[in-house]
Amino acid sequence: MAGLFKTTRRGTMLMGGALPLALVLPAHAQTAAPAQTAPAEPPGEAPVFVGRANTIQLGGFEVTTLLGGASMNDNPIETFGLNADPAEFESLSAENFIPADRSGGSFTLTLVRTPDALVLFDTGMVPANNAASLAQAGVKPEDVTHVVLTHMHPDHIGGLMDGEAPAFPKAELILPRPENDHWAANPSEAYTAKVVPLLDKARQIEGTEEILPGIRAEQAHGHTPGHTTYLLESDGQRLLITGDSFNHYVYSVQRPAWHVRFDVDKEQGAATRQAVLARLAEEKIPFIGYHMPFPALGFVAPNGEGSYRFVPATYQFG
Ligand SMILES: [Zn+2]
Repeated sequence: MAGLFKTTRRGTMLMGGALPLALVLPAHAQTAAPAQTAPAEPPGEAPVFVGRANTIQLGGFEVTTLLGGASMNDNPIETFGLNADPAEFESLSAENFIPADRSGGSFTLTLVRTPDALVLFDTGMVPANNAASLAQAGVKPEDVTHVVLTHMHPDHIGGLMDGEAPAFPKAELILPRPENDHWAANPSEAYTAKVVPLLDKARQIEGTEEILPGIRAEQAHGHTPGHTTYLLESDGQRLLITGDSFNHYVYSVQRPAWHVRFDVDKEQGAATRQAVLARLAEEKIPFIGYHMPFPALGFVAPNGEGSYRFVPATYQFG
């Protein structure tokens, strides 16, 4: 992990250029964030983002996770434990060797090479970061044939456009219709700038169908009204792309009933989180989680009543 974060001051670690916290969290999540008191890093001091990519084989598919960016945030209880007992939040943090007053977050895109397509799931926020991580995998943005969205929070759609132009010019955009319906009725700045220009050519899906050979969409609503996960299957091997079903590798996995600030519907988000975790634990299939620690790949194991634990991938896939 050396070099992943650059510590600039307590509570702020940045990568991918001077990427402020404000760019990492969904806009609606910023209201409760503490005020930024330190000045932004002056140009020239920002660390260079060299990109990171990690590839595994899944049957006949090649699955690559791509780091899109990372940050440190304060007061994680206000994000991952809205209804948590503060003492329990504190002790759970200590048991897992993480501070209770700060949390690291990152976002990881997934690229899947099938026999006939090169499919990118979610797009981060920073096209330059995406290009750097894609380059590590030997891929150019114009090589991508399909871009698939789990949902439309800014950290998942921000990389769809590079300035005024589509960032993946040859790709067909595939998006969940219930998600689009929600944001069309409640347009965010990111939705208007990043999704609307691409909508007329996009393929809208219900989230219950096979979207490409070996890639099945599954509704996992709650985090957002159209949040969708994607099950990969090739030669009998499976992997679930869980998007934002659970967003912290300790808090949301070990205490999935805790309410999460980013979930549009807190109760439904918690119910879906528990269902997705239970299924992963039961079926023992690997998953990629958008906000899990890079390479954001691993397994979920039971951890007592209503609790699970994240088992990061190591050499199981080698
Ligand atoms: Zn997210």
